[in-house]
Amino acid sequence: MTSSSSSNSDCRAAVDVALRAPRLEIDLNKIEHNTQVLVTQLGARGVTVTGVTKSLLGSPEVAAAMRRGGVVAIADSRVENVERLRVGTEGQSSADVGRDTIALIRSPMMSQLDRVVVSADMSLNSEPRVIAGLGAAARRAGAVHGIMVMVELGDLREGALPADIGGIVRGVLNHPNLVLAGVGTNLACQSGVAPDEQNMGELSRLVQEIEANFGIKISSVSGGNSANLHWALTADDLGRVNHLRIGEAILLGTEPLYRHPIVGLHTDAITLVAEVIEAKCKPARPWGNVATTTFGVAAPRGGQGSVRQLLLALGQQDVDPSGLIATPGVVILGASSDHLVVAVDDTLADEIGVGAELRFGVNYSSLLRAATSPFVGRHLLGGRSA
Ligand SMILES: *Cc1c(COP(=O)(O)O)cnc(C)c1O
Repeated sequence: MTSSSSSNSDCRAAVDVALRAPRLEIDLNKIEHNTQVLVTQLGARGVTVTGVTKSLLGSPEVAAAMRRGGVVAIADSRVENVERLRVGTEGQSSADVGRDTIALIRSPMMSQLDRVVVSADMSLNSEPRVIAGLGAAARRAGAVHGIMVMVELGDLREGALPADIGGIVRGVLNHPNLVLAGVGTNLACQSGVAPDEQNMGELSRLVQEIEANFGIKISSVSGGNSANLHWALTADDLGRVNHLRIGEAILLGTEPLYRHPIVGLHTDAITLVAEVIEAKCKPARPWGNVATTTFGVAAPRGGQGSVRQLLLALGQQDVDPSGLIATPGVVILGASSDHLVVAVDDTLADEIGVGAELRFGVNYSSLLRAATSPFVGRHLLGGRSA
């Protein structure tokens, strides 16, 4: 921890000031551990991992932790984050993040192609026009840009239909400033379609077909995201799939299909800390004529007598309150734009007064909103110095 390493009071004050609330506390050692466990398990099955940083705004420190854990590349969905990753963090050695292979994992906007080819080594693509534009931008920049061609296999988000993949591949192979970085697919994000023998088998067959038609070897076949973990770790035969792009499982230790914790991973690498601004004993039930609230119909408050109610300076502007996970003895009663209302057990009431901090676990949705809210700070623990 930062403060224990310092006996200098000025330094301590600086550390305390940095601990604003609300804040995300991010344990880089736990992220490194989670990465390493998954990289080892998947590696045993011939699958390499790209670490995805998009839920933390392309944090270079988080990317560095993932790299220490053994990922082969870093990926993010936004060019702004890719640029942040490219610059890296001051003080990192030349072998650090700035030199990593960085992929843009959303199809580039036509209006950003020049930025994409300068900052990203490769991008995920499904539109011939974008690919042609990337080729032209790469030529202007004197660069070579990698294209991973994305196939639609049923989740109905990004990807060209299987029948159109051959034509797209031809466009990539014919351009001197483009290289075919691989073929990939993405499931479980839009429609919740799970990876299985059927769709993953189709991906492998498609890869073999392209290889035969063009006389090439496709070295990277990217089966998907964290939702592919279960399949990749249990299927009898992975076919040609040898790569996954993983964010959530590394950061939260959960798999997205059923939100189960993954054995051996930390589920508390990232927590959200908020500050109590009111602490009172209040009647358990509201009184007066009850209509709708700012955010729709409130969950009815039951119970008898009174409750120990805390008000926290945390709301919809900071986090998705429905994805917060409270610690034992704390029950979340509701949230509005700027307030979170919780009830606490009598046993905790004495310890937690105004000015105290409460800690919550986060799901993916809560993490994403907290990481992108200007009101939420960040405190990194562990990492290089630990
Ligand atoms: C977000 C994203 C990922 C990573 O998803 P996780 O569920 O966080 O592992 C992988 N691929 C694409 C295309 C994505 O958009």
